Amino acid sequence: MLRGLLWVILWTGYGAGWAAIASPETCSYSTYQWNVIEKRAVNRQWIEHPYSQLKPHEIDSLTGCTVCEQDQVTIRLDGIAPFKVCHVLAAEVKQILQQQLAQGIYLNKVAGYRVGMTKGSLDASGNRTRFSYHSFGIALDINEQHNGLYDNCLSFGPQCRLRRGGRWDPRQPGSLRRDHPLVRAFKRMGLKWGGEIAGKQKDFMHFSPYGY
Ligand SMILES: [Zn+2]
Repeated sequence: MLRGLLWVILWTGYGAGWAAIASPETCSYSTYQWNVIEKRAVNRQWIEHPYSQLKPHEIDSLTGCTVCEQDQVTIRLDGIAPFKVCHVLAAEVKQILQQQLAQGIYLNKVAGYRVGMTKGSLDASGNRTRFSYHSFGIALDINEQHNGLYDNCLSFGPQCRLRRGGRWDPRQPGSLRRDHPLVRAFKRMGLKWGGEIAGKQKDFMHFSPYGY
């Protein structure tokens, strides 16, 4: 009897430990689609299904990160609002930002995980049909008030049009530059900086393994 009880305790303890490293049971997230005609978020919805039934478009193939809340980790740093990133990147992102803060860089806002279809081809109603990289918790926006997203911007100049965030001015301490220590640290980690992406967009706040 005693031996049986002990076995149950051991088994339950093992089970709890295993659950902590195994996949979550449920995947849930809130999402929307960006409508390019109305220029606003539409079809806002809460999705919930068993984690074992993740669909390919809900998983980033490079990192294995998913759109599920359950795969995100909240990062808390002194002086800025908490934000979430995918558990695969979380420890390294936190360590880099802590080091940079200790060295005195200006950091007032970081945004990571937020789910929405803002990329890809359009459906018949003008809705985007693919998840952004922020949706998987693998993209970061740094100091968006000082690092805007521009289009018509093959290289930076007066022709560039600011679409989101605040004006980029490399003379401001909050604006990122190619030689900024945070840009260099994130690039060493394997992230690409949106200020260096080829093409007509420059997204000075943005980092991800893909650039966009
Ligand atoms: Zn971004």
